[in-house]
Amino acid sequence: MDKRNETKKIIVGGVPVGGDAEVTVQSMCNTKTHDVEATVAQIKQFKAAGCDIVRIAIPDMAAAEAVPAIKEQVDIPLVADIHFDYRLALEAAARGIDKIRINPGNIGGDENVKAVAEACRKRNIPIRIGVNAGSLEKRLLAKYGHPTPEAMVESARGHIELLNRFDFDDICLSMKASRVPLTVAAYRLASEEFNYPLHLGVTETGTAWNGTIQSAVGIGTLLCEGIGNTIRVSLTADPVEEVKTGIAILKAAGLRQGIRLVSCPTCGRTQIDLIGLAHEVEKRIEGIDRNITVAVMGCVVNGPGEAREADYGIAGGKNCGLLMRHGEVLGTYPYDALCDALIDLIKKDTEV
Ligand code: SF4
Repeated sequence: MDKRNETKKIIVGGVPVGGDAEVTVQSMCNTKTHDVEATVAQIKQFKAAGCDIVRIAIPDMAAAEAVPAIKEQVDIPLVADIHFDYRLALEAAARGIDKIRINPGNIGGDENVKAVAEACRKRNIPIRIGVNAGSLEKRLLAKYGHPTPEAMVESARGHIELLNRFDFDDICLSMKASRVPLTVAAYRLASEEFNYPLHLGVTETGTAWNGTIQSAVGIGTLLCEGIGNTIRVSLTADPVEEVKTGIAILKAAGLRQGIRLVSCPTCGRTQIDLIGLAHEVEKRIEGIDRNITVAVMGCVVNGPGEAREADYGIAGGKNCGLLMRHGEVLGTYPYDALCDALIDLIKKDTEV
């Protein structure tokens, strides 16, 4: 059994995280939360892209007070992102938030932690403790010299003990850093010590291209080791891209079904514009909701073999290509008609 399945299961607004639950994808709004219209519009975009859970920033009371109006218009669990001010957590909890991300060690004393723990317990609101290598406690930096996996786990342990002291155990944990090796090592260590569900992420990864690579390596490594229950890709980009990238990482790790494109890297044997064709096919299969593999191969040397393994395939020839389904050649089409023929075939089969 994978480690992810041995963790405790928490429920975030009806969506299970941990235990035998499917790995979920999260993103975070970059709208002003008190701007309800803009926030709702973005949440709907996330949902349409396949997002499972959405986080919103709660930097002030106006944001906390906007929670009911936002919740009324969306049907996806909402997580309040709160730093330092326990009163914002109490307000968000009272106004119907589904989960809170807050570090109890940073909210100013036992009484405040107790108040938040009680407010959340009463309403079955889980808390995510978000350890971040960039904001470790000074005493841990002094002890370890710099952010290390051990320092991050010790930080998590401290926050967990605080919540446990007030009889609160509905916890999820993240161990983010902006360097992939540190992130991976910290999560590995955390998964050995704690049985709370883990929210995976590499933080501050940069723009879409760089961030996608770092997230895919970091999150993907952990997922393939059986670690991680929910993921958030962080990109300096439109956050809808985070959702799409997260889903693609889950598919690559074999944890999410859906349509999968296989295409060859092209070489001296290629006699059609395969790069253009692969991009066109990728774009046009995006919305098709089937668990299938589509192969777009450049030639008849390796092409038919790969295409045969796939559910649907194209193997290029000279300005033309073979169209195949489950290894059976259905016909030869000129280059300009290949993509249409493939998409028509898939759609026709999908409707049956
Ligand atoms: S499938 Fe054919 S064209 Fe594509 S890389 Fe392989 S040999 Fe080259």
